[in-house]
Amino acid sequence: MKPRVCSALIAGLFLTANLAAAHDGQDHGTAAVAKQVQSGVDKAGIDASVRAQDDFFAHSQGNWLKTVAIPDDRSSWGAFNIANETVQDQLKSIIENADKEANKKAGSDAQKVGDLYASFMDEKQRDAQGLKPLKGELAKIAALKDKKALAALIAHLNNIGVSVPIDLSVHQDNKASTNYIADLGQSGLSLPNRDYYLKKEDAKLADTLAKYQVHLEKMLTMAGHKEAAAEAKQIVDFETEIAKIQWTAVELRDPIKAYNKLNLEQLKALAPNMDWTAYFKSAGVPAKSKEWMVSQPSFISGLDGLIQKTSLPVIKVYLEAKLIGSYAPLLSKEFVDESFAFRGTVLSGAKVNRSLQKRGISTVDGNLGEIVGKLYVKQHFSAERKKQVEDIVKNFLAAFKEGIETLEWMSPETKKQAQIKLSKITYKIGYPNKWIDYSKLTIARNDLVGNVMRSRSFRHNQEVNKLGRPIDHDEWGMTPQTVNAYYNPEMNEIVFPAARLQSPLYDADAEPAINYGAVGISIGHEISHAFDDQGAQYDGDGNLRDWWTKEDKEKFAARGKILVAQYNSYSPVPGYTINGELTLGENIADNAGAIMATRAYKISQGGKPGPVIDGYTAEQRIFMGVAQARRSKAREAALIAQIKSDPHSPGEFRVNGSLRNHPGFYEAFDVKPSDKMYLAPEQRVIFW
Ligand SMILES: [Zn+2]
Repeated sequence: MKPRVCSALIAGLFLTANLAAAHDGQDHGTAAVAKQVQSGVDKAGIDASVRAQDDFFAHSQGNWLKTVAIPDDRSSWGAFNIANETVQDQLKSIIENADKEANKKAGSDAQKVGDLYASFMDEKQRDAQGLKPLKGELAKIAALKDKKALAALIAHLNNIGVSVPIDLSVHQDNKASTNYIADLGQSGLSLPNRDYYLKKEDAKLADTLAKYQVHLEKMLTMAGHKEAAAEAKQIVDFETEIAKIQWTAVELRDPIKAYNKLNLEQLKALAPNMDWTAYFKSAGVPAKSKEWMVSQPSFISGLDGLIQKTSLPVIKVYLEAKLIGSYAPLLSKEFVDESFAFRGTVLSGAKVNRSLQKRGISTVDGNLGEIVGKLYVKQHFSAERKKQVEDIVKNFLAAFKEGIETLEWMSPETKKQAQIKLSKITYKIGYPNKWIDYSKLTIARNDLVGNVMRSRSFRHNQEVNKLGRPIDHDEWGMTPQTVNAYYNPEMNEIVFPAARLQSPLYDADAEPAINYGAVGISIGHEISHAFDDQGAQYDGDGNLRDWWTKEDKEKFAARGKILVAQYNSYSPVPGYTINGELTLGENIADNAGAIMATRAYKISQGGKPGPVIDGYTAEQRIFMGVAQARRSKAREAALIAQIKSDPHSPGEFRVNGSLRNHPGFYEAFDVKPSDKMYLAPEQRVIFW
């Protein structure tokens, strides 16, 4: 299983760089002047016409939701996007300064940053070249003579970031977490999820699939194909067959089912027609690797059969379309526009593409992340902020400890095991201790596609080079300028990039309660992932090991079922309901994270009640902070994609769905049985 990513930037998961636009870029966290203590509550955002007890999300955000429009170049908008906007502005000056630096040494950080940016911004050259930068790769696909050689080509395309049916990644062995192992995962679709191909009865998804076929036809025509219409249909049919053999989003969440360690003989038995030796060689997997993880074995065997029954020309045109689709945003204007028309507009509802400059910044950010990240933290993340957040994290860990101790439903035996796991959680705040060395990556001022291709392969090589080596505990799965956070069950660690810890998600001038909500919800959420329905299957050393008594496990699962039923009843878009099973882990983390937030704040106050500010008690401010951090709205297409493929529920339901179960919320706002947020005590569920 790959480490969990807690993205709040919905739809950004599959759309290239669906990120941020204009803010003052100020980080006021280091201001040393004494300021009057503030509540941190965004009073202007409140809709007083909705009672907190009836719809807390609409009450706390209603005015913001009504008055703030989603920018035309966005599919969604919210607190995370606004924070990210600030970051993008900060990166802009870092990148432009690097480009302006005089007498840059070849191979220096400044040369790489400046030249990658310049190569992106040079539209004239991009337009003049058209598809030419992909000539070499297209020739490799054209040269494919038989299916035997396909395995090596699939591995090669995967190395340069093209989503072909097998996605090779490297992570810790889930039952021997001191070793890295290569994992052959399912991939190969261009739409967000298999349902887009298979749920023919869903008119919106069927319409998207039809538009995808038209999009493919246009792309192939632009690439000089004479039979583009027929080929587009063949590709859609082939991807539909891939969709059929893929596991569902819910099935993918089961780490036990995904644990299948195979040797070469077993792999050959599973998929006899694939040349695995050539595949691993092409993927750069060290020859001494003797075992691999096959997360979805039925997919690999199904793919083997599918390749056998599909004609070589169809496979070739599919690979070509995948290659062009993957690099289209870096090519000439016609490819950029067509790519946006489908990926940006049809799939996510954005009206206009982001400016060239913003896309250029995202490209540098995405490919030289830790070079710009190093400069970003130097300028925008203080040691003082790091210390403040570390103190909050310590209080959350203490809150979790207390939570386990006081749980009514769990036996002392399981509690003891849970405490052991908790005591082994480590945390990383702000930025890595050790930065990625990019010296082996060549960036040229006049070669955008080559730059990105080399950067993708550089990252791929970094991954496969981990095989056979000791676990790198300093590694980060996100850059410091990422507005996000994660829990990694294999490392049993929580990681908070610097950018998650800034305005409007962190208010340095406010009394802490709001931050225990706005940042704390995320800290509590990530710690809770260690104990959600997936995370709880791992022990403190990152191994899949059952440390539960049978009875407690059943009780925990029964609680999960209640939460699944609650979320199954929520409908973010008419005709679509949240998938309670797909989102269970995230919903448990939100549920427990909110419980921890109120408890951690109490610990920070030494048990004394916090002050009332602006008419809000400390507990009320914590909940306002939770809602402010989760404020968001999204276009319908993006919401549908999220419901289908993202394990996170939309913001409104993350807030209301967790607070309806929180006893502290009932107390803080005096929620009564006649109120709409009210759930009878026997219908409420808490986990930790
Ligand atoms: Zn999460």
